[in-house]
Amino acid sequence: MPPVFRFAPSPTGLLHLGHALSAAAVWRAAETAGGRVLLRIEDIDPVRAKPEFAAAIEEDLAWLGFGWKGPVRRQSDHFADHAGAIDRLKARGLIYPCRLSRADIAAAVAGAQAHGRVVPRDPDGAPRLPLDRAVESDPDGPPAHRLDMNRALGAIGREPLGWTEQGAGPAGETGRVTARPDDWGDVVLARKDTPTSYHLAVVVDDAIQGVTHVVRGQDLFYATSIHRLLQRLLGLPEPRYRHHRLISGADGQKLAKTRGSPSLRSLREAGWTRQDVMRAIEPFLAT
Ligand code: GLU
Repeated sequence: MPPVFRFAPSPTGLLHLGHALSAAAVWRAAETAGGRVLLRIEDIDPVRAKPEFAAAIEEDLAWLGFGWKGPVRRQSDHFADHAGAIDRLKARGLIYPCRLSRADIAAAVAGAQAHGRVVPRDPDGAPRLPLDRAVESDPDGPPAHRLDMNRALGAIGREPLGWTEQGAGPAGETGRVTARPDDWGDVVLARKDTPTSYHLAVVVDDAIQGVTHVVRGQDLFYATSIHRLLQRLLGLPEPRYRHHRLISGADGQKLAKTRGSPSLRSLREAGWTRQDVMRAIEPFLAT
């Protein structure tokens, strides 16, 4: 079976050079491996995801010359698949409802810090749950569902958990990497406002689509630990991973002018060609 890659943007705005870099990394890796690329629209956010941005993604990819195979998978059409995975984890007692709002969490952090306690943070810098003495201010409101990390780690047994990194992490991690899901605490798997979260949807959909190779930005490198944990819990296959450098990374000076992230559409309207885009992102592709 030929390898299956995917490009999985979120339609919450117009694509910019960072997305062009990601797309080029995906299509280049697929070409090298003799694989094909699927397109998935990650539109789980009921407020920020917009059909016009999804349409613009297809238009921009066509302009860049990147073609995908088969129908586009829109995550919002497949919430039943995500809910099924949630139900399976729930039936094993690995998920619990949580009504803590951002303000509740901020209050618990402030309280802990006022008592001189250090609040552990996840790799994204957010306070790690569970949090001591956090109080739900709206105990009757709609809950999010969180993974009980301790129970989940107990449920996967002792077999080492990791992944094969064909690119590199922010600290140069490559080759066989050990997953550290406990760095993240009790992550949200289904949001209050939508029946899944990024982490759950990405692993369920990668498995359903038969994705064998995940190529994406280094900003998602540490999240791979959660994805591997969920794959193990749900009995899903392990893809290979390649995390690529970001444009705003160490060597970002060259593209400093683009920090404001003009959209590909506006660059196109200003007269940029596909070759101009490729020239701008090429230094970041060579990892
Ligand atoms: N939808 C995610 C994003 O646009 C990418 C998800 C992934 O590649 O795993 O950042």
